[in-house]
Amino acid sequence: MGSNPTPSAMSVDADAEDLHDPMLLALAEARAALEHHDVPVGAVVLHEGRVIASRHNEREVTHDPSAHAEILAMRDAAAVLGQWRLDDCTLYVTLEPCAMCAGAAVNARLGRLVYGADDPKAGAVTSHFGLLDGAVLNHRVEVIRGIGADEAAELLRSFFRERRSGNPR
Ligand SMILES: [Zn+2]
Repeated sequence: MGSNPTPSAMSVDADAEDLHDPMLLALAEARAALEHHDVPVGAVVLHEGRVIASRHNEREVTHDPSAHAEILAMRDAAAVLGQWRLDDCTLYVTLEPCAMCAGAAVNARLGRLVYGADDPKAGAVTSHFGLLDGAVLNHRVEVIRGIGADEAAELLRSFFRERRSGNPR
């Protein structure tokens, strides 16, 4: 993990490893949601390369319709930073955010979103609405998608497969 001895001139685009490590954390969070029968989605917020929030979906366990992983993680991150603006932050989430979470990301002035699997049903970033492209809502969020997508999608598929096969919930 040592520091890079030669600071690169092109520092904007993070390399692949930089994106995958936080996504592994988000995937671990997603698996933790299974312990209370919540849909396995996990989210992590990074600020200046440091993880400042790490949460998973808690809708079932808290009976809170807004308790998506992204909302909880952004709340924690804002509390850590002592400000609602998350423009220096990157939100990692295993699944494409819904309209509520994409809206919250705009309201937080989020700097960057990295997500795993597309959500063709409810995704509001790429699949529908394009809420983060700045055209409708007046803030554009840089978006990188497809990181850890296979594992994120498989977690969801097996969750719903098990639920259909008669397990409680
Ligand atoms: Zn959501």
